[in-house]
Amino acid sequence: MKRRDLLKSGLVGLGGVAAASTLSAPAIAKGRMEINMVSTWPRDFPGLGTGAQRFAKRLTDMSDGRIEVNYFAGGEPLMLGADYYRSVMAIQEKHCADTSLRIEHAMQSNLTLFTEDFVEIFRKMGIGQIGTSFDPEPHMRGGGADIDSELYNRKFFRGFNLAGRHGFMAGIIYVVTKKSITRAMDVFYYLTNLKLKGEFNMNPVLIYDEERQHIALSPEEYVEFLGEIFPVWWEHRDRYPDLEPFRSLVNTIINGQVSLGCVDSGNCAFNHINVGPDGETSQCGRSADWNILPYGNIHDHSIADILADEQRSLLMNRNDVLINGECSDCRFWSICHGGCPLDAWSKHKDFMHKTEWCYARKGFIEKYFETITGVRFTPGPCNEVKSR
Ligand code: SF4
Ligand code: SF4
Repeated sequence: MKRRDLLKSGLVGLGGVAAASTLSAPAIAKGRMEINMVSTWPRDFPGLGTGAQRFAKRLTDMSDGRIEVNYFAGGEPLMLGADYYRSVMAIQEKHCADTSLRIEHAMQSNLTLFTEDFVEIFRKMGIGQIGTSFDPEPHMRGGGADIDSELYNRKFFRGFNLAGRHGFMAGIIYVVTKKSITRAMDVFYYLTNLKLKGEFNMNPVLIYDEERQHIALSPEEYVEFLGEIFPVWWEHRDRYPDLEPFRSLVNTIINGQVSLGCVDSGNCAFNHINVGPDGETSQCGRSADWNILPYGNIHDHSIADILADEQRSLLMNRNDVLINGECSDCRFWSICHGGCPLDAWSKHKDFMHKTEWCYARKGFIEKYFETITGVRFTPGPCNEVKSR
């Protein structure tokens, strides 16, 4: 679907929840109609996002499956269509002729939306890997009352294979839920059998609404899920692909190659900007989804001003608060730094706490990583938080 089709299709009138959801022009086959619905909110965003998801599901249910609504949460970049990225590159070529070598593009979206149309422009943008979510469990993703995961999977593998044929690597983000905790090894073998050229990540599901609490996961359950897989992965780690969080922990704790992602670095305060499609800026995609840490519109503020926003000091000061408080006696401070401030905010509505996923880090290393590898983490000065 082209971007202009999306814009032409207009807004759906559904009271408060539809103000930023759109339905695309339908594809009709054998009396069955398929519609892509895109919202500006992230999947499972309380109220607005879950309301739009419910609407999509009810439309499918009420039509006995004759109208299939594919709901895509905000931040699904492939929904923008290839023309959008051609425009991006045209702007880059025009305005950044001397600096283009310093610009890198990355893509994380839903591979069910990948088509031939993206191939050429993505190559031009230097995109070699497409990150995507995927759940092998039945009825986790898909349309209709029964959540038709077979149809969803067919579309996923069509996009997955197409991307592979054109030389793109696919990195999979597998979201661990309550439904998967008894099937850790099944999930592991299923995903490793895909013979991915990219890595795959096993991240815990983050649920913020009441409706899907049945799949919510505790940090303890997440640790047990990882703990079941880790001994097998460790024994055969040369055979299996890069699997996160295991590979990073091996690099950090055993190989001494410390490379921390934003959530573990304690250092995201002054080096991240998220720019939304309307020019509104925020700390990162997640803070933008939640409407917190807004830094103003890019049309009204320079990048220097946005990077100097006073709210960023809060995130930096959090390091001092935690190391003298909740994390003071933790030997993992130098590789965790209290975790993502937003994971503190989601529980306390306050950044000045450690992440609610503290045990997921500490518990897994102590109970499984150190026991199985025989290597005990010893903190070093190599990755102390750099102040501005
Ligand atoms: S707030 Fe969290 S997710 Fe956002 S940039 Fe910082 S560490 Fe990363
Ligand atoms: S593991 Fe827990 S206590 Fe240790 S630094 Fe991380 S959040 Fe703080």
